[in-house]
Amino acid sequence: MIHQFDTIIVGSGGAGLYAALEASCKSKTAVLSKLYPVRSHTGAAQGGISAALGNVEEDKPEWHAFDTVKGGDYLVDQQAAKILTEEAVQAVYDLENRGLPFNRTPEGRIDQRRFGGHTRNFGEGPVRRACYAADRTGHMILQTLYQQCIKNDVSFFDEFQVVDLILEGTVCSGLVVVELATGELHIFAAKAVLFATGGFGRIFKITSNAYANTGDGPAVCARRGIPLEDMEFYQFHPTGIMGLGILISEAVRGEGGILRNRDGERFMERYSPTLLDLAPRDIVARSIQTEVLEGKGIRGDGKIDDYVHLDATHLGADVLGTKLPDITGFCKTYLGINPADKPIPVLPTAHYAMGGIPTDTDGRVLLDKDGTVVDGLYAAGECACVSVHGANRLGTNSLLDLVVFGRRAGLHIADYVNQAAMPAVDESDAAGAQSWIGRLTDGSEGPHGGYISDEMQTTMMEKIGIYRNERDMAAAVQEIKELRQRYDTVRVQDSSKQFNTDLLELIELGNLLDLSLITAESALKRQESRGAHSREDYPERDDDNWLKHTLAYLDGDEVRLDYKEVDTSIWEPKPRSY
Ligand SMILES: Cc1cc2nc3c(=O)[nH]c(=O)nc-3n(C[C@H](O)[C@H](O)[C@H](O)COP(=O)(O)OP(=O)(O)OC[C@H]3O[C@@H](n4cnc5c(N)ncnc54)[C@H](O)[C@@H]3O)c2cc1C
Repeated sequence: MIHQFDTIIVGSGGAGLYAALEASCKSKTAVLSKLYPVRSHTGAAQGGISAALGNVEEDKPEWHAFDTVKGGDYLVDQQAAKILTEEAVQAVYDLENRGLPFNRTPEGRIDQRRFGGHTRNFGEGPVRRACYAADRTGHMILQTLYQQCIKNDVSFFDEFQVVDLILEGTVCSGLVVVELATGELHIFAAKAVLFATGGFGRIFKITSNAYANTGDGPAVCARRGIPLEDMEFYQFHPTGIMGLGILISEAVRGEGGILRNRDGERFMERYSPTLLDLAPRDIVARSIQTEVLEGKGIRGDGKIDDYVHLDATHLGADVLGTKLPDITGFCKTYLGINPADKPIPVLPTAHYAMGGIPTDTDGRVLLDKDGTVVDGLYAAGECACVSVHGANRLGTNSLLDLVVFGRRAGLHIADYVNQAAMPAVDESDAAGAQSWIGRLTDGSEGPHGGYISDEMQTTMMEKIGIYRNERDMAAAVQEIKELRQRYDTVRVQDSSKQFNTDLLELIELGNLLDLSLITAESALKRQESRGAHSREDYPERDDDNWLKHTLAYLDGDEVRLDYKEVDTSIWEPKPRSY
């Protein structure tokens, strides 16, 4: 079946819905989502969205931009960070005007709290910059935007999973999509397509990410010749629930929670004397891992799965109940403890992809280091790389990225589609997807994908984790290549057509394997330590050789790497200290 829309948005998280909202003001817009829209991972975002409103203490967008650049270890494109932080203020007020129920100060203004790496006056001390709705900020954003999209008559295709992109040279013409309910393949022709498919934490064993976070957008693009940028930079959030990886928001530390080792010591005093527990995430995650490996974890056995304590007992049941109710609930459900009485056992968890589909500040997808644009193709949100997060994202800057760059992409699309012609597509454009699905479902016997998935996640966790080295990463590349070969023999165990989640998970596994390979290769080649990419064999940042973005092209079984300049037009890179 062939459908036609001016604009198609893939993904109904914060980025997709904001873009849809703007694009639908001027064009016939559809949103495709493999999930029911408000189940998108944005709904799991807890802690807040940053903006220098200055509601509870002095703050400026310029300080916010500086923190973003420094937090990203100077791999951030600085003009993009300037846009992010300047447009943040209006973006938050827009959300408020659209109905988002933020927490309030006693005077009725939007309340703000502390978050890691956000400082006043270029690093003097922590500042209250995160606007929040208890610890359900993402949930509120999603509900607010979804309502507004319904009001704007956006067409929603729920439980439609995109499996391929149709490109004619450097022009995008549409998508190939599986309908979950029927198993049928659909072709969507569009003047503009925007990917907003979110993250891919599922390449790792322990992650805060939902099961659906399988990086479909970046993988589909990579297979069509589009490079992926800075994929070696994957953020581990310091505080996941031990053993499970479920997130304990940084808001707990923002409200005053303290990390302690087995001696009860506030160990962050040694690693970050100024910002302590609210240092950027790469630093806190490494500090926890170092404590654990040195035998100062709570068990004290020096094993990598040992943990530390996040102590929120002194915050009191009132603060926990009103500002962190969901976190309190998670602790009760998954750990059987009340954080008002006992410290929370935590360990770093794979959390956020700084890298992704390269775009300019209007969301247009870029094909190479010279900035060649793919006409009609856009990306925004976690699957994209603008790049405002550089080598390490600051907490609360992702929700902001969604609304600022989702909105900018939507506005650009609205203009673009009004002068572009509807591209021609036909059934033959589905051939690639048909042969992939045909192979997976041809009725022959093949291994189950579950084992491959498990091995991939273990390899990535152990060898492309918080600390990295040449030997492990080279081994990871080999292991992932072998897993990709084994993937060529997998078959579905369930041959039904309707709601065949077995098939869809196998397709997702193919995506995860492609992204694992690209991540591992990009990491192996970067011979320095910067932000979340921390190498035992190259412990220093090396601006002379490595102040550049990676562009990785998937070429069959190989990954070809190229590099592009970083925009450092505002602040000269300096060593980071906190
Ligand atoms: C537990 C948790 C807490 C977080 N807390 C915060 C926070 O407090 N502040 C902050 O700034 N950031 C936070 N983050 C990060 C932030 O929430 C995410 O980066 C952000 O929500 C991603 O939004 P998105 O719009 O890019 O994608 P998502 O919200 O992940 O949505 C992706 C969409 O794409 C669709 N999709 C995916 N693949 C396909 C396909 N093949 N076909 C069709 N549709 C597809 C999905 O159905 C979904 O609708 C948190 C993340 C997690 C995991």
